[in-house]
Amino acid sequence: MTLPLMKNFVNGEWIDSSSTTTGDVWNPATGEKIASVPYGNREDVDKAVKAAKDAFWDWRTTPPLTRARYLFRLKDAFEENFEEIARVLTTEQGKAVDEARGEVRRMIENIEHATGVTTMMTGYTLEDIAKNIDCYGHRQPLGVFAAIVPYNFPGMVAWWFLPYALVSGNTFIVKPSEQVPMTQTKIFEIIEEVGFPEGVVNMIHGSKDVVNGLLDHPDIKGISFVGSTPTAKYIYQRCGATGKRVQALGGAKNVVTIMPDANIDAAMPSLITSFFGCAGQRCLSGSILAPVGDIADEVKEKFIAATKAMKIGSGLDESVAMGPVGSAAHKEKILGFINKGVEEGAELLLDGRNFKVDEYPNGFFVGPTIFDNVTPDMAICSEEIFGPVVSIVNPKNLDEVVELVNSRQYANASCIYTQSGATAREFKYRVNPSMIGVNIGIAAPMSFFPFGGYGSSFMGDIKGHGREIFQFYTDMKVVIERWF
Ligand code: NAD
Repeated sequence: MTLPLMKNFVNGEWIDSSSTTTGDVWNPATGEKIASVPYGNREDVDKAVKAAKDAFWDWRTTPPLTRARYLFRLKDAFEENFEEIARVLTTEQGKAVDEARGEVRRMIENIEHATGVTTMMTGYTLEDIAKNIDCYGHRQPLGVFAAIVPYNFPGMVAWWFLPYALVSGNTFIVKPSEQVPMTQTKIFEIIEEVGFPEGVVNMIHGSKDVVNGLLDHPDIKGISFVGSTPTAKYIYQRCGATGKRVQALGGAKNVVTIMPDANIDAAMPSLITSFFGCAGQRCLSGSILAPVGDIADEVKEKFIAATKAMKIGSGLDESVAMGPVGSAAHKEKILGFINKGVEEGAELLLDGRNFKVDEYPNGFFVGPTIFDNVTPDMAICSEEIFGPVVSIVNPKNLDEVVELVNSRQYANASCIYTQSGATAREFKYRVNPSMIGVNIGIAAPMSFFPFGGYGSSFMGDIKGHGREIFQFYTDMKVVIERWF
């Protein structure tokens, strides 16, 4: 059987990549190939940039409210296709379909937030900055922007950026992860139906060559990147070298703290989702579980019991809480980390290495894995594993928690469970990560707040979505004016 080959969407049309090199797209639950994706080249980039550049002036001079109306139509079309997008997403990424639905909902929320352009893109004015002289600043779009996105959120992440760039008058190119190209392809079919002007929004498939083509292209004004920290650093440096605006969101190693006064039973469902939802492949996933002082034994006992109660299998099965990991290669990487933890002397309380799902013997499953007696210097406590592997560290007090959190190179998110407002305040005040959960296991800012971390988790200054993103996609032009 011939597998479908993904096409690029450029200038309002579906076109073949100029490259003949392709990669495989897998269903991680069944371990079967389901599509092929072109590993595009600079010719593909040039076509997309030309289309986006040619479309810029007409789009830029379209009133913001008219631009927003395209997004209103897109929102309705996404609602109509909601379930289908979620199912394509689970099929190629593996996450539980209900999580995929959550992801689609977050995409729509970003569209909804971006339609507030007429209040969020405004500038400001001051009369009489000197005698008879007035001053005002307004925000102008810049041209062509692009987003380069990861495999773990095949739908949502591009939509942390795209609606804001478009509604503020720029034109856009999305480069999906080559591992999961089908979800954005489905989304672009919907974009085609909504009928944006040609060239305003484009998608090209590929990997490094397409990324390098985008980074080097003189007509691209800025890059929004989300992925691992090594790639984020590369993107950040190369955008600096080529004079582009850049926001580069990287990896994570999130600590979840349980204080002795926490309500453990109430916390448990959110703890399980934090560590094992999306098979631990979220930049907001819990990775280090830190029960403080004597509460550790009770937390471990209840956490292990709740972990064992989770159903693991194909994400399309509505009763499944945890699906497979994204690829065979990633499964091997996670297993390597588990072996490393054993070698380093951590105590394996639950071993997910030989985990099998009977119905899907070829799926990329890793069972939930829990290590105890982990020390901060171990690889499983410092490096990003990005899988269903929990490292338990047992700090004595809040000072040790702060030391643990702030000594990790990543500083994306951190959560605390406590009944004490004073403890929560001290935690929020002293830890480095930028996204904080208090009695919340996944500290995910909604579209109207900024998304992004600190340290090795983020390079740049303006983060994903939130109000500030209008600054990333515009230049503030300031006019100083006098009339004789
Ligand atoms: P990745 O860095 O491998 O890939 C991300 C994107 O960069 C892809 O589109 C890929 O094609 C491209 N890319 C990869 N290697 C490249 C290279 N050498 N040169 C040029 N381009 C390259 O990341 P991934 O494995 O797809 O995603 C998982 C990572 O993303 C994890 O580290 C996770 O923490 C991170 N992530 C972070 C956030 C956040 O908000 N900070 C959100 C989601 C995922």
